[in-house]
Amino acid sequence: MQYHAANTDSLMFITPRPDIVFERGEGSWLYDHAGRQYLDFIQGWAVNCLGHCPPEIAAALTAQASRLINPSPAFYNGPMVELAGLLTDNSVFDRVFFANTGAEANEGAIKLARKWGRLHKEGAYEIITFGHSFHGRTLATMSASGKAGWDTIYAPQVAGFPKATYNDIATVDALIGPKTVAVMLEPVQGEGGVIPADVEFLKALRELTTARGVLLIVDEVQSGMGRTGKLFAYEHAGITPDIMTLGKGIGGGVPLAALLAREAICCFEPGDQGGTYNGNPLMTAVGVAVMQRLLAPGFLAEVEARGQYLAKRLLELSAKHGLKGERGSGLLRALILDDERGPAIVQAALKLEGVGLLLNSPRPNLLRFMPALNVSAGEIDQMIELLDGLLQK
Ligand SMILES: *Cc1c(COP(=O)(O)O)cnc(C)c1O
Repeated sequence: MQYHAANTDSLMFITPRPDIVFERGEGSWLYDHAGRQYLDFIQGWAVNCLGHCPPEIAAALTAQASRLINPSPAFYNGPMVELAGLLTDNSVFDRVFFANTGAEANEGAIKLARKWGRLHKEGAYEIITFGHSFHGRTLATMSASGKAGWDTIYAPQVAGFPKATYNDIATVDALIGPKTVAVMLEPVQGEGGVIPADVEFLKALRELTTARGVLLIVDEVQSGMGRTGKLFAYEHAGITPDIMTLGKGIGGGVPLAALLAREAICCFEPGDQGGTYNGNPLMTAVGVAVMQRLLAPGFLAEVEARGQYLAKRLLELSAKHGLKGERGSGLLRALILDDERGPAIVQAALKLEGVGLLLNSPRPNLLRFMPALNVSAGEIDQMIELLDGLLQK
């Protein structure tokens, strides 16, 4: 098939895209219109948790597509009920509201916390979030995010999101006041540069929020669904948050997200919350297939082991090239460079001779790795070998 540059002019410009069109994917591999092959360590931004086009997702979609696609969110459907049960059975939460994107799930979390504040905390509505955090691209979630510059692009912002410093409990303590209803954070800051919250910080945060009577919300859109080697990242700290949001991996590549809460927090009344596609069986059937795979005996232990292997190989590269080490959790990791050449390496990796490599540089001084959770050790080795060549100055 021929693709002409002019064809792409019909798309609204939002980001510079390389001059290739992807046509096919399988596991850790993508193929473009010219048949060129790419090793994918982005996976749709940590979305394709089982790789490209996994058979269980193709089967779930095919079977569900000819059975029932969308009876309306005002009715129960089988996969919606089954997935909600799988999520509550395997977490500390009691109830689930399905959404389509991470940002939408976070909007739901913000609404739920504000409603709870109106009912139980004299109208408290402020949600403390963190510098460098990322919670999505709707107006409220951009306001909640701590990305530099995001306070002015679409000003005025949605009010009520004071920013504390990540991994610094005193800065949270200082911000809690009569208007505070919740604290919201990513257990691992993904877009911020793969920065895990310290276990001690998460524990202290739970203690502080409980003592002050405010909610704790974990945004696990990126860190959840097995990404860190546990089903949910909050488990590493052994804490019980009040609200959690999921996205990305839960759909294995299709638009699916979820808002989970403990029973005592669930205070939506009819009319408060909803959405045309929410909980549709086509997407939730995929969520069931993803959950079943993650819960299969040994799967998460394998993610943990692969994460350790990736960390070890990245550390070796770092030592060899005099870089600044690596960090992360499970299969969400970053290699810390000694300069700001991340974006240049990403470009060069795409254009490598022979096999291309898909990498991401959320900050210019680091490279992020978010492969499929079932990536093989051999694929990690292949990525390291390609990256080794790219790092030669
Ligand atoms: C990606 C991401 C979001 C936004 O998810 P979308 O599906 O793009 O709306 C929110 N929070 C975190 C932590 C994310 O990584």
